[in-house]
Amino acid sequence: MKVLVIGGGAREHALCRSFSLDPDVTALHCAPGNAGIAEVAELHQVDALDGAAVAALAGELAADLVVVGPEAPLVVGVADAVRAAGIPCFGPSKEAAQLEGSKAFAKDVMAAAGVPTARSYVCTTPEEIDTALDAFGAPYVVKDDGLAAGKGVVVTGDLEEARAHALSCDRVVIEEYLDGPEVSLFAITDGTTVLPLTPAQDFKRALDGDEGPNTGGMGAYSPLPWADPKLVDEVMATVLQPTVDELRRRGTPFSGLLYAGLAITSRGVRVIEFNARFGDPETQVVLARLKTPLARVLLHAANGTLDSEPPLNWRDDAAVTVVVAAHNYPGAPRTGDPIEGLDEVAAEDAPHAYVLHAGTRRDGDAIVSAGGRVLSVTATGKDLAEARERAYAAVARIRLDGSQHRTDIALKAAGE
Ligand code: AMP
Repeated sequence: MKVLVIGGGAREHALCRSFSLDPDVTALHCAPGNAGIAEVAELHQVDALDGAAVAALAGELAADLVVVGPEAPLVVGVADAVRAAGIPCFGPSKEAAQLEGSKAFAKDVMAAAGVPTARSYVCTTPEEIDTALDAFGAPYVVKDDGLAAGKGVVVTGDLEEARAHALSCDRVVIEEYLDGPEVSLFAITDGTTVLPLTPAQDFKRALDGDEGPNTGGMGAYSPLPWADPKLVDEVMATVLQPTVDELRRRGTPFSGLLYAGLAITSRGVRVIEFNARFGDPETQVVLARLKTPLARVLLHAANGTLDSEPPLNWRDDAAVTVVVAAHNYPGAPRTGDPIEGLDEVAAEDAPHAYVLHAGTRRDGDAIVSAGGRVLSVTATGKDLAEARERAYAAVARIRLDGSQHRTDIALKAAGE
């Protein structure tokens, strides 16, 4: 199978790493990729947001499967363009990707499907905003309706901060605050059949102890020793299958990766958000634990034949990923700094720990930072404590001027 992956973050590096180990994959391409992906895939320079260009590249490469990583190309219809060219594509249509692209659309689908979520108002005027903030009280949850790479959400006890963020958006969703731990559960679907992956938890805030601003994600781990073993079955029955069924009923079936961001509240499981693609950094830990070769499963999803796939197999190992971010992230990050120590990780820590690249590029012989989240250092172990130890040992070898990372990824779950 010839596979083309679209994107260039650590999520795509994790996907490419899995494909590079997959006996069904004979050729691996990625566009645009990054310096780490270049070691396992052939890179192509194409604008990931240009559906015609992506479809043309897939045609030239005679790709058997295109996998679209990030949300932005999905929301503008890149998967549709690839499918229109007759090439199987793993990723939802433009319409179905609105599940992530518009929080108001997601709320509407959830209401129709009876999926449990936070009560909310969609507001466009200052009066509506004040009424909604007043109705729910503190802590306030204010979400930009459009795509904002996980950074359009403000959760705050400060009314003025909540109001200022709401007024800065064209359309805003204001909702009830959900307490309790968060879980990310991914499912592969062809629009009818739903195949759940294994739950993971990510860390959205920039600083230790869940302090600081929201980010794209600073680390993740799996499995979740504290979670109810029946959680996956419950979420399949109450969230994933009803959502997939509702979108099919509307004539806009969702095929691809459905990501449910959940809060395990004192009143039960609630959906915080849906995403229409693999989550980053949870993918790094989920794929580290996946035994089943991935490419064939994604091809079945793309072709509408997922019912022929048995349930996925998982390693008993635990996995932890720690994100190394650039100076000033999640503000405007400093880029162009050399990254050292990558060879040492490869020599000393492999195969249990390895570095997935996000914002990196090659500059002559050097690898330099090229984005906010720079690396996802991932490790496996017999339990979370061992995976954590290995991940942080690898992080300690990496030298990137001004870089930052959290020191408490999976700390509580490991029982330390
Ligand atoms: P979202 O982009 O909707 O996932 O929101 C980003 C983050 O904000 C989530 O991962 C949560 O940590 C937090 N958040 C979002 N909605 C709520 C809510 N209703 N109650 C509490 N926290 C929330």
